[in-house]
Formats: sequence, structure tokens, C-alpha cells
Amino acid sequence: MVLSVEVNVNEIARLGKDFPWVKPSGCPRCGQALWWHGFVLAYFSCLLEPVLLRRLRCSCCRSVHRLKPAGYWRRFRSTISEITQSVACRSESGRWCRALPRTRQRQWWLRLKRMAGAVLGLFRDSVFEAFGALLDQGFIPVSLCFQRDNSGAGPPPYRSVSLPSISR
Ligand SMILES: [Zn+2]
Repeated sequence: MVLSVEVNVNEIARLGKDFPWVKPSGCPRCGQALWWHGFVLAYFSCLLEPVLLRRLRCSCCRSVHRLKPAGYWRRFRSTISEITQSVACRSESGRWCRALPRTRQRQWWLRLKRMAGAVLGLFRDSVFEAFGALLDQGFIPVSLCFQRDNSGAGPPPYRSVSLPSISR
């Protein structure tokens, strides 16, 4: 499982393996103690180089988990706030957000409209409101698959965006 934690991705990049990760209190699957289990490389849109994220292993159920900075959806390299910003911009002005890659934004937009049509049916509100409605139902609105965002432990990651924006 991917466990979202409140950490700054820029600090992880700066400190590398010395970053002071805090070990979760127990395995999210079985509740037993976790052990550090190496690192895994991950890319983020705000950084040029990949960063090292901590992995953990449960000796009881043998599942492997990884820690991930909150503010990101699983499999997404842009922050949730960047994606939200892009959708809001396009929905309200009809333009793409300047600070973000256009191809990526177009992909989010098409996926969002597809999911909104499939999940919400005919909606009269703006696309941005559909984005919010899908979020409220637990979906990742710009995801290709209609999976609900239950990857993290604790509160949903989109409520705790605290990463500094470098792209501006
Ligand atoms: Zn376990």
C-alpha cells in the first residue's frame, strides 16, 4: 500500500537517504510492527531528479508498503493542487494553465470529462464543479480508471496540500 505522509518532497530531494522518515505506528493491513525495507525511486513534476522514498515491510502479513508525500495522487507526478489549478483554469477561462505541460493538462481534462459523463451522467454545472463532485465521491477525477482514492491511510491527501509551488 501507499501511505501518504505529511512531508515536504523538496526536503526529501535535498537530504536523500538522510531524510528523517517517521515510521508508521503499525501495518495498515494487520496492525503489526513494520520494518524499514529499503528505498524506491519516484519522480515528481516539480523536481528534475527522482527522489528516494522509504519502503516498509510487515513481518507478520509480509506486505510491503511505501511512504509518499501527501498532496499527490497515486501514479501522478503533478501535485493535486497543480491538477486542481489546471482544471479550474480551463473550466473558467477556456485556457490551459501556463505553468504546466499542455499535453498533460489535456489528458487530465479528457479523462475528467469522460469520468464525469460516466459517473455523474448529464451534469449542468461547470466541469470544475463536476471535478469537485467526483472528489466528494472519493474518485480521482483525472484518473484513467474509475478507482476510488483509498491508497493512503488517514485523511484524504487532497485535504492536506502543503507543498511549496516551484513552478511559479
Ligand atoms: Zn501486516
